[in-house]
Amino acid sequence: MTEPLSPGATIGILGGGQLGRMLSVAASRLGFKTHIFEPGTNPPAGQVADRITTAGYDDTAALAAFAASVDVITYEFENIPTAALDALEQHRPIRPGRESLRVSQDRLTEKDFLSRLGIAVAPYKNVETLDDLQNAINLIGTPSILKTRRFGYDGKGQARIMSPDQIDTAFSDMQGAPSVLEGFVDFTHEVSVIAARSINGDIACFDPGENVHKDGILATTTVPARLTSAQRTDAVLLAAKVLNALGYVGVMGVELFVTSQGLIINEIAPRVHNSGHWTQQGCTVDQFEQHIRAVVGWPLGDGSRYADVVMENLIGDDMARVPEIAHEANASLHLYGKAEVKPGRKMGHVNRVTSTLK
Ligand code: AMP
Repeated sequence: MTEPLSPGATIGILGGGQLGRMLSVAASRLGFKTHIFEPGTNPPAGQVADRITTAGYDDTAALAAFAASVDVITYEFENIPTAALDALEQHRPIRPGRESLRVSQDRLTEKDFLSRLGIAVAPYKNVETLDDLQNAINLIGTPSILKTRRFGYDGKGQARIMSPDQIDTAFSDMQGAPSVLEGFVDFTHEVSVIAARSINGDIACFDPGENVHKDGILATTTVPARLTSAQRTDAVLLAAKVLNALGYVGVMGVELFVTSQGLIINEIAPRVHNSGHWTQQGCTVDQFEQHIRAVVGWPLGDGSRYADVVMENLIGDDMARVPEIAHEANASLHLYGKAEVKPGRKMGHVNRVTSTLK
């Protein structure tokens, strides 16, 4: 049994974006130090962490020095190069573990993994050539979505195919990257479960949130989600099954489509998740603290929901509304300290507490 880390220990975080920033704040509240590893300069997490290493994931010496300076390593994004993980793992434990990354880095591996667990996913086919795509369309039909197997996020690396005459364009949109064709799921709405598993194997799930996307980017998450109590239980059981199968340690985001036939997993993210930001104002222990607790070997905290919350992402020019939002009652602002406003860039979010329970 691994000994839990004590306050004063250092948590290494790969990635210095807003998720790394909010993880650092949560770690700091529990008395831990954080050390960020990030190739880009002036990352949001660097402003609140104890230490930052600015180096590329191919810099073996920097990776080794980083690993030697921390007690455990976690991450805020899943696309960490395998060679970097190999270098780090020789020195310190990485939580969540390698298997979670291997599965979630590749949409095909992920869908195969979920299917083997008996979990419903959209119909899918591997696509590497134009012929593969033609065959996949013959099987799956249209409308469908072609997605790159790796490095897709916020709807990037995706092409919708509404009719077979769009095959050539969709294929060239992938720029030669191995892809999967997914059948279009006729969902009524999208929800996600933010689930946590401790080193001891205890599982705690936050109440599912209902997500609305705009231009492929999450716009809002609302709790409670529109789900029957049976669907709510199903969602939590699906997430627990995934976490157990991976021997997972930490917080995971599980995105689901709600259909008349039941719940379908869209994708899993082995990290804290944008659709879990509402927990900062809706629960005693939020997703960031829950993740830190799990990776340092502590018991999970109480994540039961005590408020109705709507989380709104502040994207690009939404930042201009901040002075106005600052006047609102029951609105909690979380800004990420990004110097430059860019269209489509997540600059912050606001959690509006719409009512408290009891
Ligand atoms: P993803 O990057 O896979 O999370 O996709 C971004 C968004 O595109 C999802 O949240 C859905 O709104 C939509 N989407 C993705 N895959 C499908 C699908 N197979 N059927 C219908 N809509 C989808």
